[in-house]
Parts: sequence; C-alpha cells; structure tokens
Amino acid sequence: MIGASDIRRVSEMERQARQQAEAAAWPEGVIARYLTVAGATVDIRHDMALIHDTEPNLTIASCNGEGCTATHFEKWGPYAFRTDNGSKAADQEVGKWAQAHAEKCRALPRPAVTE
Ligand SMILES: [Zn+2]
Repeated sequence: MIGASDIRRVSEMERQARQQAEAAAWPEGVIARYLTVAGATVDIRHDMALIHDTEPNLTIASCNGEGCTATHFEKWGPYAFRTDNGSKAADQEVGKWAQAHAEKCRALPRPAVTE
C-alpha cells in the first residue's frame, strides 16, 4: 500500500529532477537567468571587458528575446573595496536591470529548431 509519505517522497523527487533539468539547460557561464513576460530569458554572465583581460572583471546581462538587443553591464572595479573585488555588488545591480527588463520585454524567444 502506498502511504501519504510515499507520495510526498515521489513528488519531492520529481520536483528535484525538474530543478536539475532546468539547471542543466542553462548555457555554460550563465550565473543567473530571468524569465521575461514573453517567455524569453535574460541571462547574466561574468565576462572580461577587454580582449587582453585574463580574468573576468564585469557582470553582463543580455536578453535572448528574438530581435531584442537589450544588454547591460557593470564593471566590478567601481564596487571593489578592500578584499571585495566588487563582483557581488555588480551582480546585484545587473540583476536589478535584468528583473526590470524581464518585466517589460515583449520579444518572443526564437522557436527551438526541430529536425
Ligand atoms: Zn528583451
């Protein structure tokens, strides 16, 4: 006989599997992702400002809505202080922009190519 605790365990496993699938679907380097009202995503990454930079030094968000070129970045430098390289504060600022853009962007995601 299946008890209520078994059902809870199964739904918990399903929830975890779904979370893992969603996490696995994120492209490499994406540290945060916001879902837009139209179903596209705004991805946040760490990146390097200049071609000869060897370490990430900025946080950048870009919208994946088809035809939407919205992007926003914050360099870590202005937020750096003592032992803090500024990345967390830059992440927060970029996250605010991503949230605001996700709430108003109407660009649809490009349909997945099916073969
Ligand atoms: Zn957009």
